[in-house]
Amino acid sequence: MSEIKAVCVFCGARNDVPQTHLDIGKTFGTMLAARGIRLVYGGGDCGVMGAVANAVLKNKGQVTGVFPRSLKDLESEHASLSEIIMVESMHERKRIMFERSDAIVVLPGGFGTMDEMFEIITWKQLRFHEKPVVILNHKGYWDPLVTLMENIIKTGFAREETRQLYDIVDSPEAVLKAVGA
Ligand code: AMP
Repeated sequence: MSEIKAVCVFCGARNDVPQTHLDIGKTFGTMLAARGIRLVYGGGDCGVMGAVANAVLKNKGQVTGVFPRSLKDLESEHASLSEIIMVESMHERKRIMFERSDAIVVLPGGFGTMDEMFEIITWKQLRFHEKPVVILNHKGYWDPLVTLMENIIKTGFAREETRQLYDIVDSPEAVLKAVGA
């Protein structure tokens, strides 16, 4: 059994994306369940978020969803999670997802995913935590962002050591290795 008990996953909430991104969510969820690692995520049932959660549940794993009440009209929460925590704000959602996990994994996603990822990286930059942060650059989806992050460092807006705050990998197996699972 892994030292890592729970992994927080940030990823997209939209269904209308290439199937390969939904598939990689499913693959990663299946791998978490096989290792007995709890999924902590935003609690939605759509997009890559839904794909990861459904795969964990299908393989008899444990899932904690953290869902803001105010989002009910915009996104739908998953109806059959092991645990659902209803919160009042996006900030509370991020805090609880962070507190309940041993590592943070970023799968393909949109602006919400980026907001969550950069908050976690900047918390680490400010030494609020030392949890592993791993970005799965599936099929080069995050390439333009990786280029931007490198440009930020090269130009001097972030220190060279900033690169040590996160890992960027290209397979779900490498994600698990990087988080120490
Ligand atoms: P997206 O990557 O845009 O598909 O969003 C992925 C998830 O991030 C969705 O469940 C959004 O509700 C959530 N999200 C968007 N903005 C924020 C935020 N500021 N704080 C926390 N979660 C967010």
